[in-house]
Amino acid sequence: MSQTLQAVRGMNDILPDDAETWEYFEDIVCDWLQSYGYRPIRMPIVEPTPLFKRAIGEVTDIVEKEMYSFEDALNGEHLTLRPEGTASCVRAAIQHNLVASGGPQRLYYYGPMFRHERPQKGRYRQFHQIGVEALGFAGPDADAELILMCARLWEDLGLDDVALEINSLGAPEERARHRAALIAYLEQYQDRLDDDGKRRLYTNPLRILDTKNPDLQQIVEAAPRLADYLGDESKAHFEAVQIFLKDAGIPFRINHRLVRGLDYYNRTVFEWVTTRLGAQGTICAGGRYDGLVEQLGGKPQPAAGFAIGIERLLLLWQASGGEAERPVADAYVVHMGDAAARLAFRAAEALREHGFAAILHCGGGSFKSQMKKADASGAPVAIVIGEDEAGAGEVGLKPLRGPGAQQRVALDALPEAMAGLLYGNDEEEGIE
Ligand code: ATP
Ligand code: MG
Repeated sequence: MSQTLQAVRGMNDILPDDAETWEYFEDIVCDWLQSYGYRPIRMPIVEPTPLFKRAIGEVTDIVEKEMYSFEDALNGEHLTLRPEGTASCVRAAIQHNLVASGGPQRLYYYGPMFRHERPQKGRYRQFHQIGVEALGFAGPDADAELILMCARLWEDLGLDDVALEINSLGAPEERARHRAALIAYLEQYQDRLDDDGKRRLYTNPLRILDTKNPDLQQIVEAAPRLADYLGDESKAHFEAVQIFLKDAGIPFRINHRLVRGLDYYNRTVFEWVTTRLGAQGTICAGGRYDGLVEQLGGKPQPAAGFAIGIERLLLLWQASGGEAERPVADAYVVHMGDAAARLAFRAAEALREHGFAAILHCGGGSFKSQMKKADASGAPVAIVIGEDEAGAGEVGLKPLRGPGAQQRVALDALPEAMAGLLYGNDEEEGIE
């Protein structure tokens, strides 16, 4: 016997029970995004590899060790399964002249991302993000709006235990001065740094600050702080963001070691974290990235955004008691005999034409076993068609839940009778 094939490690099937939860959640998310004026954009899942190297930075976890990159066997192009969406979104905006021709853009996307990491709870090789990008907005108001809208989503979802951490990464020159001080400081502890730390000391020392290695905590705690190197403009921007947050009543903590994993950020950076998901506690991360558009070849444009990890958010939502409403059909159509089977098709289509969801029983079986399936489907009404009904061109309606008597009507009268059963006879709504 040949071996059964399995999904790639760290890439999950989302089976119907879970997929329904995802769709329910996606509806909430779309409403939420629209309520802030964000518009959808969809980019390809595969992009040229240089896009990510340029956008994310060569000395980052993602580019160094997490990308699924390959050479197209047919034409030798270097391609990568996207590890995140900001680079693609900005690439698309530049390519199609979105900001230049349409003014500032509020955009969002939703979809799978790919990173070759060690799979564990809340960390997968294919995972999903909602990305939100505000392109062409320079002020602290945009940063604050991004953070506020996250808070609103947590509230809509009834999440407990999500805390906001913010920091400012300042401007590139300020970061350069801080970087020199940081290298000088870390050089004193060179022997105690781990391999990543040693490697990054001169290439990306800022990243050493967000190390998860417990042995290095003391060293990084006492390291020079970026905040002490910020110029007046950066400081004013960061303070303005904080005022908006205070006005909105959103508590936050300034985390001086919050530097984010990607190179492209400047000024405001933020993370929403929970203690409920173990080491995978960050459910949302983002910030300002004013240099990225130019870095990718566009006319300079300020921008800011964030990404939410859907799997982590759903884990937290379920841990907070969140539950999806499951879709159920309005009717389950059971039938017995050849003439009845043909009428059943017409009955089911008549219902759908009038906006009702109907499951047509397929595969035969006794009335009793069909009725069991009707019950299990959760549908409130069974449409019953036996030889008798089929001969008369009629159908039976049997309420499966709640009150209401069984009735028999002509096929033409079925949608109206359905509406009567579901919404009450004196209401017109429901029937289209
Ligand atoms: P982490 O420090 O947990 O690796 P990150 O800084 O690499 O996160 P970002 O690139 O900022 O993550 O991505 C934004 C969000 O996407 C994260 O906060 C997280 O919720 C989610 N995320 C990132 N990587 C994964 C993954 N491998 N599996 C599931 N979710 C992920
Ligand atoms: Mg990561």
